[in-house]
Formats: sequence, C-alpha cells, structure tokens
Amino acid sequence: MNYGRIITKNLLKYYEVAPDVFAAITPNRGLCWSNAGFINKGKGLVYDTFFDLNHAAELKAFCTDLQGHGPQYVVNSHYNCDHTWGNQVFSDSVIIMHKNAVQERLSEDPKMWDRIIREGHKGGVGEQWIQNQIKGFDLTGVKWQDPDILIEANTKIMLDDMEVDIINVAPSHSESDLLLWLPKEKVVYCGDVVFGGAIAYSAEGMKLWSKALDFIVDELKPEIVIPGHGGICGIEFVKECKDYFSTVMSEFEKHYEDDLSPLEIAKKCDISEFLHWLQPYRLFINILALTNDRRGLPTPADWNYFAAEMSNLKAFQDQKYGVIPWDPMSSWAE
Ligand SMILES: [Zn+2]
Repeated sequence: MNYGRIITKNLLKYYEVAPDVFAAITPNRGLCWSNAGFINKGKGLVYDTFFDLNHAAELKAFCTDLQGHGPQYVVNSHYNCDHTWGNQVFSDSVIIMHKNAVQERLSEDPKMWDRIIREGHKGGVGEQWIQNQIKGFDLTGVKWQDPDILIEANTKIMLDDMEVDIINVAPSHSESDLLLWLPKEKVVYCGDVVFGGAIAYSAEGMKLWSKALDFIVDELKPEIVIPGHGGICGIEFVKECKDYFSTVMSEFEKHYEDDLSPLEIAKKCDISEFLHWLQPYRLFINILALTNDRRGLPTPADWNYFAAEMSNLKAFQDQKYGVIPWDPMSSWAE
C-alpha cells in the first residue's frame, strides 16, 4: 500500500491513506484493540475514539498538532465500548452516532470492565480470557459521553471541498453501525463491520452482517479499507470476511446433527482458510449461535462457558492444523 506520512506515537501508528486522511491503528492484541480515523480537512473529523482515555488523548493530541485545534466532529462507528469510551476527551466536538447506540450501550458498564482489568484472574476462565487481552488499557475516569446528534438516514458532511458520507448499515455487526465513506478518495472506515475474528450471535445476524459486507464490495468498491481492528486492508479482505461467514454457515449445514454438542460441530467445521486470523477458535461462538438457533435456544453471553469451549477448540485446531500464533504487531505493517 502507498502511504503519505506514517507517524508512530506511543500507543498508535498513524497512516496517511489519502492526502490529510489518516488511519490510527493499534497493535491488535484481541478484544478492544480497535482503530480510529482522523480527517484533517475543513474543521476536522474523527471516526471512533478507542476504549480508554489514554488512547483518545493521544488521538486528540495528534489532531491538535496537525490542525491547531480538536476536531469539529466525532462520528462513532457503533456503540461498543472499544469505539466510544474515549468520547469524553472530545466533549467539545459534535458527537454523532446512530440513534440506536444510546440504548445499545446500556449493556456495557465501565465499572465492570475496570474490575476485569484489575481482578479478572479471580473471575473464572471467561474473565481471565478477557483480562489477558485487555492488559494495557486503563479505564480510570471513563464515563459515557452522550452524543449531540443521533442519525438513522445517510448523512453527508463537507470538510472544505471533501465529501464525507456517513452510511447506515445497521443492523449488521450491531444495531448502530455507521460507515464513513469518502467517495472521491475511495476510502472507507468500517468500524466492526470489517475485522478478522468476527463473532455473530445469531444466524439472522450473520446474514445481515454478510449483506453489509456485500454492500461495501458491490456498491462502494473501496480502494482502502480501515477495519475496526487489525491492519489497513483493501476490498479483498472485505470479501474474505464475507467468505468467512459463508464458510461458517455452509460448514455448519454440512456437519450439524441433533445429538452433537456445539464444540463437536465446531471441530468438524473446516475453516482452514482463515487460520491466519486472530483467534480462529472464536469459531466456537459462531457455531454455538447457529446451533442454538437451530434448536430454538437463546445464546446468552456466558463468557466463562465461551472461554472454556474456545480453549478446547484452540487446543484441537492447534494440534490438527499447527496454527501459527497471531502477531499483534502485524497490524502495524507498512
Ligand atoms: Zn470493536
């Protein structure tokens, strides 16, 4: 990929993917290691604000260095904590979210996540699994910052002569997904609609999410894609994400049997094309969701159960396929 400026700071690496259009990328260490963006045109726009105030403050300092002030606009890709909890650092900006985000975000409590960072090792295998991944974040002082503008329809913002389209693709990854599309530059910021390691919690969710991926590939046809997590990519990776869900659904159909457990089905599913992704054993949750759907059962977010079965699937995949361990720094490749 051809970049303009590449600037590495303490926590984030900034890539200029088009003139004055930046991606702010974290090393992808798993849950909550998310990306953001900054457009240094007009009054300035930031897309997503990270999980904690340290990352958000570094992004804001980057904007201020380049522009002389903070951004006028913040657009959040969706409600999730790892994309919105830095918002309070940008409380002087106009914060724009999908109208469903305000309700959806009530499922996430900063105090609970703060406790997991500090004491997750005491909370069973699920909390331990989460704690291992979110080491390096500090949720001190994090509180929800209410948005200023709630949208549902596609919305255009002009940054000087640059057109920026906010495109509603919800429901897909969540009920509040907004893409940020630069039609002239052919750059799209996707939030968690695009990332390797996707988990959907229902068959219907997987189908809707796949539709949003099709929309990016067939309608937007971007040249540069900034995913919610992981390194900058292109349209090929968006197709790969779509292929992942198609493979998961077809492998599930091939191997589903009434008397098999979700783990037994997951072990039979061949996702060997996707073993270079972060935590390919996340497959367990996708298969669990499809199995429960088939059996008319709900899929509650029981992370101790998820983590225990994911670790069983990991051991199986490592042994069968010789999975190469994920390198978080691969997200910072140039
Ligand atoms: Zn995320």
